[in-house]
Amino acid sequence: MTTHALRRALQIALCTSILAAFSAASDVAYTVSLESPERHLVQVQIILPPGTATRQLQLPVWNALYQVRDFAQFVNWVRAKDRAGNNLVIRQSNDSHWQLDGAADGAIVQYQIYVDSFGPFSAQLNSHHAFLNLAQVLMYPVDARNAPLTIRFSHVPGDWHIATPLQSVSGSYSAENYDRLVDSPVEISTFRELAFDESGGHYRVIIDADPADYDADKVIANLHKIVAAATSWMNDRPFDTYMFFYHFPRGPAGGGMEHAYSTAIELNAATIQRSLYPFNSVTSHEFFHLWNVKRIRPQTLEPIDYTKENFTRALWFSEGVTSTAEEIIQLRAGLIDEKQFLARLGEQISELENRPAHLTQSAEESSLDAWLEGFDYYRRPERSTSYYNKGELLGFMLDLTIRDGSNDHASLRELFQWMNANYARKGRFFDDSNGVREAAEAVSHADLGEFFTKYVSGREEIPWNDFLRYVGLHTEQFSISIPDPGFIASRNFDGPMSVIAVTPGGEAERAGLQVGDIITSIQGKPASEESNQQLARLNSGETISIRIRSRGPERELQWKVGARQEFSYRVSDADHITSEQRARRAAWLKGEAEAGAPVQ
Ligand SMILES: [Zn+2]
Repeated sequence: MTTHALRRALQIALCTSILAAFSAASDVAYTVSLESPERHLVQVQIILPPGTATRQLQLPVWNALYQVRDFAQFVNWVRAKDRAGNNLVIRQSNDSHWQLDGAADGAIVQYQIYVDSFGPFSAQLNSHHAFLNLAQVLMYPVDARNAPLTIRFSHVPGDWHIATPLQSVSGSYSAENYDRLVDSPVEISTFRELAFDESGGHYRVIIDADPADYDADKVIANLHKIVAAATSWMNDRPFDTYMFFYHFPRGPAGGGMEHAYSTAIELNAATIQRSLYPFNSVTSHEFFHLWNVKRIRPQTLEPIDYTKENFTRALWFSEGVTSTAEEIIQLRAGLIDEKQFLARLGEQISELENRPAHLTQSAEESSLDAWLEGFDYYRRPERSTSYYNKGELLGFMLDLTIRDGSNDHASLRELFQWMNANYARKGRFFDDSNGVREAAEAVSHADLGEFFTKYVSGREEIPWNDFLRYVGLHTEQFSISIPDPGFIASRNFDGPMSVIAVTPGGEAERAGLQVGDIITSIQGKPASEESNQQLARLNSGETISIRIRSRGPERELQWKVGARQEFSYRVSDADHITSEQRARRAAWLKGEAEAGAPVQ
């Protein structure tokens, strides 16, 4: 028993009815009331224990996405009382920060907040469900951010249940500190709960979707394979219970969000009915994040500063190389084969090479600029590259470089295991790209300075064949004529589909399409994360019909799809492959070092 638990037991014993509202007296206690689902209004009460007279309260300006979203925009009102019910003065200091006076004996702060953002990184209350990213809803007392706290939910509709990885204690939930609290999503609805055990771990699966839209047996079968492949690859399972939250809406969906003991994933129902590939890849990615970024964590993201952007050069590794691991996990799980793996690699190379910014923005710069991704102009191909895309490719090239440098005694797996042992398990954080280099050099015993200088901090063209030769592969580049709708549309994580570029003099421009227009539907289908694939399926000469919202009323535009030349890359067998190259490739596709010697 810790001193904290002992203190708490004494306090609970001393409680009287007058102090009922202050029952967990030493802990900050939140009550989140789902008062008005139809109006998306949540009322929050924070009981502050006795302490200093003046307290500071902060609502995060960002969380989950590396974007400032200013959650305070949704706070309707704030008030505070003392224990006797007298009003206290609470004064706003900036848009997301409040100061409370007269709180020496404790206080109750109350506020109302509007929550209706969709996506796995957001907070939403409506007549169907509540899904809460708590950082978007809960202010924290600045002096008690690292102290234990409790949370309970009230006005929960009769047939709704609560699912969260937080520890349940007689009707409420507890967390060791605010960071852990807000790393724990909460779903409150008539969800379906499934569970399974695999390789010693217990897994809870919360699905809020129409049961007709997914096959529960297949979902569970694939989850078994994914968690087995990932935990065996890492030779680690730093949890007893892990939770998957899934939403399969029939409209737009937001992707996945990682947490230390759970993940929340939202995928369009029609998309997963066509194929479980998106389900497998997003799940593998988010699950692997429980190590990479949640535990193997860059120093620049710690301690989290909720008041402003947290700049880091490491997202190419924390996000991008998580995407590399996502592919390796799927291979090991038997969910994709070599052909699909190499096809995906070719697509990633094509994506990078077709963005002119790959020669002007480094992987580290792309990481630092993550905070600009909400802006349409920033997402243009000549302005930015994606740290997911380039980072995933760097992960594969780094894997091959480590194999080469270590004479097949180490691979990306040993790099992650080394970082897990030397950082995560020791409670240390790594020094962005330098920390990755340190680990890569420790497992390969090679000097990888050139790799990091040229391709991570530098902007040099990646010589794909120099890396791929090691496993008997090369790239074939060919120019293809592809149907061109005459514009590029893209979407911020939770935003609408917007037009970010229009080809000058093209058909789309002639039809009246302009940068900044919001696309509401394409060929009669609501715009969603599927829209770009839908555009890619159109043929030259076909009529494209889109509805847009811009200045003035919503309107429909039509024109004929044109064509343009683009470079495409295919990864295929090099000439005259040696048996050595074949053996190395087989090991690479297993995600293991060929020589398989344990690395210290
Ligand atoms: Zn990610």
